[in-house]
Amino acid sequence: MGTTMKAIMKHHLGPGAELREVPIPQIEPHEVLIQVKATSICGTDVHIYTWDAWAESRIKAPMVFGHEFSGVVVEVGRDVTGVKIGDHVSAETHVVCHQCLQCKTGQYHICQNTKILGVEFQGCFAEYVKMPAENIWKNPIDMPFEKASIQEPMGNAVHTVLAGPIAGKTVAVVGCGPIGIMAVAVAKASGATEVIAIDINDYRLDLARKVGATVTINSAQEDPVKRVMQVTEGTGVEVVCEMSGHPVAIRQAFEMLTNGGRMSILSLPTKPIELDITNQIVFKGVTVQGITGRKMYETWRQTSGLIHSGQVDVTPIITHTMPLENFKEGFDLMISGQCGKVVLLP
Ligand code: ZN
Repeated sequence: MGTTMKAIMKHHLGPGAELREVPIPQIEPHEVLIQVKATSICGTDVHIYTWDAWAESRIKAPMVFGHEFSGVVVEVGRDVTGVKIGDHVSAETHVVCHQCLQCKTGQYHICQNTKILGVEFQGCFAEYVKMPAENIWKNPIDMPFEKASIQEPMGNAVHTVLAGPIAGKTVAVVGCGPIGIMAVAVAKASGATEVIAIDINDYRLDLARKVGATVTINSAQEDPVKRVMQVTEGTGVEVVCEMSGHPVAIRQAFEMLTNGGRMSILSLPTKPIELDITNQIVFKGVTVQGITGRKMYETWRQTSGLIHSGQVDVTPIITHTMPLENFKEGFDLMISGQCGKVVLLP
């Protein structure tokens, strides 16, 4: 191991990124160094790459970004126990404070002082990444690196779908980006009776069908509320996983939800949205949940188990793999929407 590595760097406060030679991170006593074997591109990384208003408000440059990965531990700090050189690992990307009310009550995923890999500190679009040992999730030795690298985003899907009862329920996933597609697969594997996938992108609706959607609706071509009502014999669905962030889609999502249903929202609308609270939430007695991050570490346990057991086959979801150097092609694919997960191989 030399002293420098290749990394994708947000090199300036503006659009784009560059492949650079940078120092390999130096670990602290509580940290471990991981050789990255696979790292996948998240929607967040696309925001950083294209440099939208959110990125401008949050990201400092120059910085290595990326936060979804799997790899092999190559160095451990002197205070680290429970993780050793040679372990195959991924990592929870939220580093929490252990001091705030939420941490003190075991709700680490909503820590008030969360710091995120590849957002607040150096990320994993690189040959090596360092993480606090407490954030390490060990992978089964026979889990392929590509599959292991997408556990972090799949954890968002698992957290959303399993935030309430799902077996025997009718479910709609509104917005079928990669996490929406994963949500379809998780809902199917968890015993949902109908899994209705809704999007405006036929490529992604085809993927949703491959992983278990029982009905797909292109909402640019037909009224999704009307169709959901037909499928559910006029009742509406019992669970909606909102992953679109689109104002019109969100209002439709509430309309297709049956009385007493659950609306679990993972999406991040960029502006406040007007809703009919009286008729669509109060009188219907629905539960609305915000979903953020992954429960530490219940969600990781569920996600790893679903992948490793084969209950969820993520093979169709990983549509593209390519060398780290070809990252621009990967980002172009993500921007086009003609892909599932794109995985980079350092
Ligand atoms: Zn905290």
